[in-house]
Amino acid sequence: MVERNPKRKRKTAAAFIAAGTANLRRIAANRDAFPKCGAMSKTTGQPCRQLAMANGRCYYHGGRTPRGKDWHRTQWPDKSAPDAIAKMENKLKMMERARKARERRLAKMTPEEHAAHVKWHRERPTGSPEYRERKRAERKQNEDARRRFAGYRAKEPDPIAPNPADPSDEIQIRNIEELDIFK
Ligand SMILES: [Zn+2]
Repeated sequence: MVERNPKRKRKTAAAFIAAGTANLRRIAANRDAFPKCGAMSKTTGQPCRQLAMANGRCYYHGGRTPRGKDWHRTQWPDKSAPDAIAKMENKLKMMERARKARERRLAKMTPEEHAAHVKWHRERPTGSPEYRERKRAERKQNEDARRRFAGYRAKEPDPIAPNPADPSDEIQIRNIEELDIFK
């Protein structure tokens, strides 16, 4: 195994830098020709003008958000990257910052908001696209059933509740009271 001197900086070949610079210049010169991010900018209320990434969103608007089985899963740096350790440390720091921010947000929530938050996350677990699709279908089915059942219950009169329009209910209640089995 070759010993590496940590003080020795990795050198980038001049030709490599020149190629990168030329590429950036080419992009800048033809900026209008490249697809743009479709997100609405909060500051201007106009569509974002950043260059779009593969999924049609820029770096700031979800372009880097993983899809499929990696949705909502932490993305670790590539171990072959020259600065993999620094990236890893940075990632851990960002995760810690996000965790604290989440805790502050949760602490500010009302009990109802908190319950809604917990429900939302319980119903949307991470996993493979197939698993999430199945969960989505179940959720839809449950919501549908709940809606139908709620409508059904509203129409059905409660058989136990006394009907004020019917005097026989009044008599029945009196009979039950007169039984008084606990006497
Ligand atoms: Zn954007």
